[in-house]
Amino acid sequence: MIRPKSYATPRLLAVLITIVVIATHQYLPPKILALYPDTERLSWIYSPHSEGAEPTDWIDRSINHFRCNYAPGDAYSCGWSLNLGPDRTTGIDLSAYDGLNIFIHYKGNAPRIRLSLRDFDPSFSDIEKYDTTSKVMSTAIRTSDLNQPVYVQLSEFSVAEWWVTEFDIARQYSAPSMNNAIALGLDFNVYSNNEIRVEKIEAVGQWIKKETLYFSIISFWMMLIVTEVLGRFYFIYKQTKADAQRINNLVSEYKKLEVEKQQFEALSTTDVLTGVMNRAGVQQFLQRLFESNFSRNQMGVMLFDIDYFKKINDSFGHDAGDQVLSEIARIINEQVRHTDIFGRWGGEEFILICSQISEERLITLADKLREVIEQHGFVIDGQPIKVTVSIGATKVNATETFETVFKRADRALYNAKNNGRNQVQFAQP
Ligand code: GH3
Ligand code: MG
Ligand code: MG
Repeated sequence: MIRPKSYATPRLLAVLITIVVIATHQYLPPKILALYPDTERLSWIYSPHSEGAEPTDWIDRSINHFRCNYAPGDAYSCGWSLNLGPDRTTGIDLSAYDGLNIFIHYKGNAPRIRLSLRDFDPSFSDIEKYDTTSKVMSTAIRTSDLNQPVYVQLSEFSVAEWWVTEFDIARQYSAPSMNNAIALGLDFNVYSNNEIRVEKIEAVGQWIKKETLYFSIISFWMMLIVTEVLGRFYFIYKQTKADAQRINNLVSEYKKLEVEKQQFEALSTTDVLTGVMNRAGVQQFLQRLFESNFSRNQMGVMLFDIDYFKKINDSFGHDAGDQVLSEIARIINEQVRHTDIFGRWGGEEFILICSQISEERLITLADKLREVIEQHGFVIDGQPIKVTVSIGATKVNATETFETVFKRADRALYNAKNNGRNQVQFAQP
């Protein structure tokens, strides 16, 4: 027997996992990537007055404290820059983060500081001129917001219009992209005198984005459902196969039993010695006949009893008696029609039930059978012997039971015995 798999436990487990994942997701610590200070990443200050920065621009180089004065006549603003990757074409994938935590100490008269990012991509950047052709994105932070940690979303950054114009950038590249951010920097777009100390910059994100999480949960459930459906189909398939096998087994078992039953039935209704029907066989037949509406008034019954059979047994032995019994059964059986019923009633008595026979023909047939036996040359131990039978015959009345008929035939047989044996007596119904 195949047992159906229980899906309750995996389902409950899946529900629990889902609840736990959804509930705990928001409490997961954020994914943080320290960008500055970092010994691996190179940072420097620059100014339009010289190659690199004037030594006098530094207030305290060890803590990244510098001066940045942007005055009319300067070609560009001074500023601070940080290489994000090991070289100027290899950066980091900031798209895996949501924003930047920055902590900048500021003193000066600029209303805003400009924070910028550069993304290098060979599809739009020239590897020879990476400094200018990498995508420029920036956002402005009010200087009044500085001197404390500030969280800047990466989505605040927008692509510099001058960059798009100057390099004639195709539209598909003119939106912000941060897959390979090579540099981060700060500078000013208004003339101002500033003192700056960059204390800390880090990228902040989630280990698993909400969309990814929910997509994973949905996928997980889909997989679970598909697995369950497949499992159920497989179970039904297996069970159907097993059921078919069981039915086949039962059918063949039934057929075997049917054959055995027929064999037993045949055995139980056949007389082993003579091979003709035994009393049980005859009675079974009679029962069916007398229970049905079959017209019985044309039926005739004969009872045979071998004369002085005891003597045959006594003189020649039991086996000789058996031989005579078999031979008489065979002789009568050969003479009767296939619609008649012939059987051994017990001992040395036989019964013949003829359907559709008149009184006259019944008596004639009985006498013919008696004569055939009388004339038959029985030989026992090489010695011819004479065997005769007495017969009691009667016709069946439509309304009577078989017992009544049998008693009458038996009485007729008794009369035949009393009258000197080897004769037929007919009893009128
Ligand atoms: P009757 O003419 O009055 O019928 O004399 P009978 O000797 O035939 O009468 P009885 O009924 O006294 O004897 C029947 C004998 O048949 C008795 C029994 O030993 C014998 N007998 C019954 N069945 C068998 C059998 O299967 N085989 C043999 N060999 N003898 C049997
Ligand atoms: Mg007898
Ligand atoms: Mg007898």
